[in-house]
Amino acid sequence: MIKKVNHIAIVVADLEESMRFWVDALGLELAHTEHVESQAVDVAFLPVGDSKIELLKPTDNESGVARYLEKRGPGMHHLCFEVEDIVAALARLKAANVQLINEVPVMGSDGRKFAFIHPKSANGVLVELYELKSV
Ligand code: ZN
Repeated sequence: MIKKVNHIAIVVADLEESMRFWVDALGLELAHTEHVESQAVDVAFLPVGDSKIELLKPTDNESGVARYLEKRGPGMHHLCFEVEDIVAALARLKAANVQLINEVPVMGSDGRKFAFIHPKSANGVLVELYELKSV
């Protein structure tokens, strides 16, 4: 059901400042950054093999990511697994009494489908599932 880790998202207060660790010291490469209006974040994508580290910086004070930063400070926000079939994955999780944030996949602007699993059901970790658009 799970193909791989697609990305790990980390909330930061300042992208430039955070690059000093992830890029300058650790040696990851910055592939690109983009603004995601729907989540009110700037995202920096740092590929690691087949996966990515995504640094999320809130661009307003109201969004989920902004509230997370205010409450807990910078840190790991979620882990994302790529799945073959997200509808089947959600059905299987639901049958196992896992608490889902999105019972139905959300359609991303680029055609990928995603859904979040509640941290209560995942040892305190917010888990995202991705089904990429088949090419
Ligand atoms: Zn994500």
